Amino acid sequence: MAKGSSGVGDIPSGASVRVNITNEQKPSSEIVKALTQYKIMAAEAFPELKGQIYNEFNKLVEGDFSKSNILGVYVPSLKKIVIRRGLAKNLAKMKGTVSHELAHALSITPRNGFNSTTTAFKRAFAEYRRSHPRATQQSFARSISSYAATAKSEAFAEAFRDFTMNGKNASAASKLIMKHWRR
Ligand SMILES: [Zn+2]
Repeated sequence: MAKGSSGVGDIPSGASVRVNITNEQKPSSEIVKALTQYKIMAAEAFPELKGQIYNEFNKLVEGDFSKSNILGVYVPSLKKIVIRRGLAKNLAKMKGTVSHELAHALSITPRNGFNSTTTAFKRAFAEYRRSHPRATQQSFARSISSYAATAKSEAFAEAFRDFTMNGKNASAASKLIMKHWRR
């Protein structure tokens, strides 16, 4: 059991908030099993990031949060994803949370071959506007999810979640953000 750490957590609707994490533990076998398929899908979508994706999953833990409605956190100082204890009861929600936090993990370090999340968002929106002239940045982000409209970094994380979980059926906005994330 680790001592408490802190990071920025995501809640289902609304802005992200600072959160203290306590009672960290390795994820249950149920969670590990449920994430195996997703981990392979994410690595297939971004083969050049496979090593880091697998590493993030190896360090994933469950924990308790001081704010009751937070689902997941990425802690940059520890390079670690923490998911809310008890999320195994809703595996779809758990996978969505992990994929969203994985996006934060992958986007925090600038890397060769990838643009920043801000650049990816701006270029994707510019391309989207050619076929949707009335679109605003808000409506563009909202076509991914309502939480995506809270910040460009959240739009990126939501686009990554949508793209890696839904593939061909992801929203046009998610596909464009992922396209422009890659240089
Ligand atoms: Zn987030």
